[in-house]
Amino acid sequence: MLDSPAPSSSLSGRSSYFPEATDEQWNDWRWQYRNRVKDLETLHRLLPYSKSEYQQLKLLAPSLHVGIPPYYLSLIDPSDPEDPVRKQAVPSILEYTYRSVGIDDPLGEDADMPVEGLVHRYPDRCLFIATNMCPMYCRHCTRRREWEDGELPKNRQQLDAMIDYIRRSPQIRDVIFSGGDPLSLPLPVLDYCLTELRKISHVEIIRIGTRFPVVLPQRITDELVGILGKHLPVWMNTHFNHPNELTPEAAAACRKVLSAGIPVNNQSVLMRGVNDSAQTMLRLCQGLLKMGVRPYYLFQCDPIHGAEHLRTSVWTGVEIIEKMRGWTSGLAIPTFVVDTEGGGKVPITSNYIMYATEDTLVLRNYEGKIFPYRNPAPAVRSKPRRPVAQPAQGRSSRGTRPHLAQIRSTPDANRSDV
Ligand code: SF4
Repeated sequence: MLDSPAPSSSLSGRSSYFPEATDEQWNDWRWQYRNRVKDLETLHRLLPYSKSEYQQLKLLAPSLHVGIPPYYLSLIDPSDPEDPVRKQAVPSILEYTYRSVGIDDPLGEDADMPVEGLVHRYPDRCLFIATNMCPMYCRHCTRRREWEDGELPKNRQQLDAMIDYIRRSPQIRDVIFSGGDPLSLPLPVLDYCLTELRKISHVEIIRIGTRFPVVLPQRITDELVGILGKHLPVWMNTHFNHPNELTPEAAAACRKVLSAGIPVNNQSVLMRGVNDSAQTMLRLCQGLLKMGVRPYYLFQCDPIHGAEHLRTSVWTGVEIIEKMRGWTSGLAIPTFVVDTEGGGKVPITSNYIMYATEDTLVLRNYEGKIFPYRNPAPAVRSKPRRPVAQPAQGRSSRGTRPHLAQIRSTPDANRSDV
């Protein structure tokens, strides 16, 4: 099922877009950060828009928020307007065409923010948003509302208020640094936050959500990894979306993080024309495993303003996972989830239970073959036997077999490891 392999490096793009860059500059994350492409004219010079799209975008340019590191830009094929890396990084006129569709805060996070910058929705974990700055401003970003008005890292007082809330909330055992990208913070600030959190006995793990390994892997320096490694257990969640992002530079960055004892998971976003096929997702997930990175989530693209053109049907995600399951290792298969407004993540899976009573299940395997499976009886029956799936309300149960849709709605049919 695999097609052509991922590119071996960003070298060809580098020589055509940035021929004057020395090796020293190219490998220096500060040079990469300073030289991010941040305006429409430079973008148009390097990756030409059509004349009409350029003119339309020029009219809207004052509201454009762009930032593309030279490294990430070098992965784009300038002759292909449908390039999957381009779609994630380069503003399109379609962001404005469908501007009225969608909402600013699709996850309803602002309503779950007891302290500015800290989202506390699930019982035992919280999001820690220390900055709104990112190495690149992804066109599909769920938190566009955070960065569209400019780059504003939190000040010391704001960070202390967030840490203090966690200190006063003993149920929080897992703190997730999330986008804006926490690795955009100056290292002393990052170290300060991690040190203060580590002083709180109920904080068991810290997760770092970052796109640096994907869009600017040069940022993963020994110094940075040394700081993260002081505060274990730390987990890293990164965000590769397409196999063209799996370069030697990205692999080296992930290896460096892994060698410090920090497991790396990947969270992809499903996007039209980027990764909306089983073949692309297979290449991506198998390539991630080769780099030591575990595919964790595949997110349905959130209904954010400006990203409607990138959204697919939910059924596309269900179908992709179904086409992967069984055809490759379960390690390579992310959980497909829809993030609801105010309700958190909901895993959506195909149904493999065709029929079920308490004693027997009829299961469908990855090839569509049907198998009966005997369900062991509980050691002590506390209640009389009854079918697991109940008939629909208002209908006689006599002689009625549970319908597939009813089985789908039982919790057991949707069990997930989230
Ligand atoms: S790196 Fe993350 S937070 Fe930043 S723009 Fe991209 S998706 Fe949004």
